[in-house]
Amino acid sequence: MTTFLSGGTGTPKLLAGADGVFPPGETTVVANTGDDVELGGLLVCPDLDTVLYLEGDVLDRETWWGIGDDTAQTHEELHRLAGAADLAGGPRYLGAEAQTAGRPIARWRRFSGVAEFMHIGDRDRAVHVTRTGLLDEGYTLTGATRVLATAFGLDRDVLPMSDDPVATLVHTPAGPVHFQEFWVARDGEPTVEDVEFRGGEDATATDAVLRALREPVVIGPSNPVTSLGPMLAVDGIRRALAETPVVAVSPFVEDRVFSGPAAKLMAAVGYEPSTAGVAEAYPFTDAFVLDSADDTALDRPVVRTDTGMETAEDSARVARAVAEALEVVS
Ligand code: GDP
Repeated sequence: MTTFLSGGTGTPKLLAGADGVFPPGETTVVANTGDDVELGGLLVCPDLDTVLYLEGDVLDRETWWGIGDDTAQTHEELHRLAGAADLAGGPRYLGAEAQTAGRPIARWRRFSGVAEFMHIGDRDRAVHVTRTGLLDEGYTLTGATRVLATAFGLDRDVLPMSDDPVATLVHTPAGPVHFQEFWVARDGEPTVEDVEFRGGEDATATDAVLRALREPVVIGPSNPVTSLGPMLAVDGIRRALAETPVVAVSPFVEDRVFSGPAAKLMAAVGYEPSTAGVAEAYPFTDAFVLDSADDTALDRPVVRTDTGMETAEDSARVARAVAEALEVVS
């Protein structure tokens, strides 16, 4: 068995062609939930959903989020209504009191559904309604995710990192904003002073996650701050990673990032935005997979390959390098 830790792009890209090396029935994916938001009363879990849609073969492979060929009638109508009533566009973060009222899992990340600031497709929304409905019925997020995994016919086990709230808040000169507001609504432009994982200290790892972390662990090329940071903020997860063989794929080629805000956020929290900084952020990692063009010298075993992943063959190549690195450290 092997356990993958996942955000919404790098690890899913790796999994997309990894079945021959890491058979679905022998792998578990633990997904970040720091990016989750409650939007118009619905819990949206972008990283969990990317894994569900990928493994269920419905993912929009252009964006790496949402369902391919989904319509967006409800989303469009929300914008029409808000515009016709002269309501300011989203994101409309709810007031301080509302942030800690209601279901605990949505703490510190509640937005009004008015002028919905994230693009939610119609089929995608059905998933959020089902998930939130299950939570209202008393399911944990782990249980609700299992139901959705069954609905999408998954062979891989998919787990949220915790059933407790951990909210990724980006501190800017104008105050803290949720990561989705920073990234989706403001294009990652505000200056970042710090990144906080609110709730991380009190959150516990579920038994299912702790069981999964007894197996060798693969960290795909994820954003170390926003995808791994929330997991590492949970004590039990950090401790478990120190005890098991871990292989990580760098999301950088030396100091060049493939996509997304990893460099800016790493610099903001005090890591060099590079492969060297990733190694520093992951002291529990036993071996790394680096790009062939990445000459970073590390104090741990390294397997090199072309880590760019566009096709399933690319993913399979990186998966083979990961398996090779795991053999060295297991
Ligand atoms: P998010 O949840 O969508 O923010 O994304 P993740 O944390 O899962 O992944 C983001 C990271 O994936 C970025 O830092 C990218 O550099 C990295 N990435 C994207 N595509 C590739 C690729 O093809 N190869 C490698 N090695 N990294 C990639």
